[in-house]
Amino acid sequence: EHGTCRCHSCFSGRDCSATDDMCVIDLYQGDPTMFENYWREHGDSCTTTILGWQRMSYYANSKQFFFVQTELDQVIRSLHDVIGNAVTEGRHIVIGVGSTQLFQAALYALSPPDRATPTKVVSVAPFYSSYPTITDYLKSSLYQWAGDASVYRPQSDDSYIELVTTPNNPTGEVRQSVVSGGAGFPVHDLAYYWPHHTPITSPADHDLMLFTVSKSTGHAGTRIGWALVKDLKVAQKMAKFIELNTIGVSKDAQIRAAHILRAVTRQYRELGGKIPYTLEKTRSGQIEERIGAKQLFHFAAAEMSYRWQRLRSVLTKGTRFSVPEFQPAWCTFFGEIRSPAPAFAWLRCNEEADCERFLRHSGILTRSGGYFGSNTSFVRLSMLDRRASFEILIDRLEKLQSAVDM
Ligand code: PMP
Repeated sequence: EHGTCRCHSCFSGRDCSATDDMCVIDLYQGDPTMFENYWREHGDSCTTTILGWQRMSYYANSKQFFFVQTELDQVIRSLHDVIGNAVTEGRHIVIGVGSTQLFQAALYALSPPDRATPTKVVSVAPFYSSYPTITDYLKSSLYQWAGDASVYRPQSDDSYIELVTTPNNPTGEVRQSVVSGGAGFPVHDLAYYWPHHTPITSPADHDLMLFTVSKSTGHAGTRIGWALVKDLKVAQKMAKFIELNTIGVSKDAQIRAAHILRAVTRQYRELGGKIPYTLEKTRSGQIEERIGAKQLFHFAAAEMSYRWQRLRSVLTKGTRFSVPEFQPAWCTFFGEIRSPAPAFAWLRCNEEADCERFLRHSGILTRSGGYFGSNTSFVRLSMLDRRASFEILIDRLEKLQSAVDM
């Protein structure tokens, strides 16, 4: 804070160099604290000042669309245009308190109100662990969690919603909808469809797409997400949900999000976008992509690919753990072939039945595969934590690898 050094909880001493081997690293959540380093250096470009009398009304600053601030609507379109990851033309934008609120708004909007049985909500396993709990926590008669989409076979008039998370949380792979027949509607959760996580192959062009600042700029605490919605009636019904649920979304948060997204968009517009970055050898001889790039997605892509290289190089030293392999692909944003670098590692313990428990004994908190519709030999661990936690993770995994090889 304000220039003083605060050590990570695993370190102590004046220069934070003393390590505590017993400390716990919490990689259970996907908290994107990795981005703090970037915004500490570039935060001045998007300082938000809100005076006491400003934006006091419940309503938006125009008749444009319900509670959406025009500034935010415009900058979202402009960002997608620069990145090339989604079509915004002919789409309505609905803003939510994170994409978590929009996910619920989508369930509300897409479930016909007059059915005898609830609309089924499905997603291919392993799926994002919050989907089942969020879908069922109010025991709604409108919709109901129905599990793994790959085994779901709708009857001819069954109403269902398929959640398509691409790239997927927890596994990182690129996905498409799989269910056919019935009266189904896919919702594309594109929280991770950004160039630091996956090659951008073409602008996503689906009927209902969800995005969030949490995983694009790292501002999870701002709690702003957006939906790109083709059908006006669906967008109106989603906005109705937001009205009933929270009478709109904080204007202060919307303005902050707009300033952040505008700062990111400007960097690319001013510099003409496609800036290549180089691989450099660090003093320890490891290949490291240049960290410290001026543009957000260049910084994040370099950081993520460094982390995945480190993780893979440690895991290949033994046989105790494995992670999925990904195919590199041409990324239209970077203008080069890139490998996916997901936000989570879907780690398999090859020798222990309960991987979460095994890692917990070494002070690494992860989320067990069971929460994702999979089994306990897998865990999901966050790759988005601060650099110090990540390095501790790597050290500990390395020790666990060599322990078995002895
Ligand atoms: N969808 C997916 C696939 C996620 O992983 C997350 C966050 N973990 C969300 C949605 C929710 O994001 P938000 O912070 O915007 O509510």
